[in-house]
Amino acid sequence: MAYIGRFAPSPTGPLHFGSLIAALASFLDARANHGQWLLRIEDLDPPREQADVKAQFPAVLSKFGLYWDGEICRQSDRHHAYQDVLEHLLAQHQAYRCNCSRKEILARCGSTLYDRHCLYHPPSAEAQCAIRVKCDNMPRHFNDTIQGRYISPNSSGGDFVVYRRDHLYAYLLAVVVDDYHQGVTHVVRGSDLLAETTRQIHLQQVLGYPTPTYAHIPVANNPQGQKLSKQTFAPALTLDDTVPLLFKALLFLDQQPPTELLEASRDEIIRWGIEHWQIDRVSPTLAKPVELSK
Ligand code: GLU
Ligand code: ZN
Repeated sequence: MAYIGRFAPSPTGPLHFGSLIAALASFLDARANHGQWLLRIEDLDPPREQADVKAQFPAVLSKFGLYWDGEICRQSDRHHAYQDVLEHLLAQHQAYRCNCSRKEILARCGSTLYDRHCLYHPPSAEAQCAIRVKCDNMPRHFNDTIQGRYISPNSSGGDFVVYRRDHLYAYLLAVVVDDYHQGVTHVVRGSDLLAETTRQIHLQQVLGYPTPTYAHIPVANNPQGQKLSKQTFAPALTLDDTVPLLFKALLFLDQQPPTELLEASRDEIIRWGIEHWQIDRVSPTLAKPVELSK
């Protein structure tokens, strides 16, 4: 089977070291398997986005030698596809409208586990509604290439939102529709999305889509034990330091790069990475600390 991988950043903040390891791991796994590597910009949530950041993604990835195949897919161009899938789910009674606020659900159910109130008491047509997918038979486990067998906790059950009350398509819907649309066979991404995966697999099964192979790499934590992210003020990638940062990313991914590579060119280090990539070397751990100051 032809390998198709992807990198799917959200433009909520500039790319940082955590983004680089996710990009590099998915890129190397694709190239080492003679596969394609696609770029998808997950710009689903305009209020949380930074336009300049989004515009810089392609240039930053190119600067690191991470060249993608084909056209860039932008989720902001894909609303019609998400809408079609929502209508299909509603028509098949696999999904239903819900106008409960988070507060109401908490007050009624004592947790965020949804009680199907709106399945039995459909809201009026004018109400501002989310759309939820039914998920009684949600798969509770899957085999992750890096993390091994993942078993989801019971509390992650409950009918989940695929369209939000604030009129945004949910990430969960878009990622499943787009992975299918782009023919993605292998997903390599950060372990922060591990718990989401069983829901994504459930939605693929409801829609009759194949399930890709999943590999979740450890996320990079700062020395305070927080995941590198915009919220924890992770520094944006600096473009003049590509070789040391790629080297650090290879180390983080347990690929054991020889120190001589620090003297190599960017293209040499990428080539070394492809030739020596071994996904089974990546530690099956959810997070690892990283020291960014040199
Ligand atoms: N857009 C998501 C993020 O930046 C990643 C989605 C994915 O790889 O499935 O966290
Ligand atoms: Zn409801």
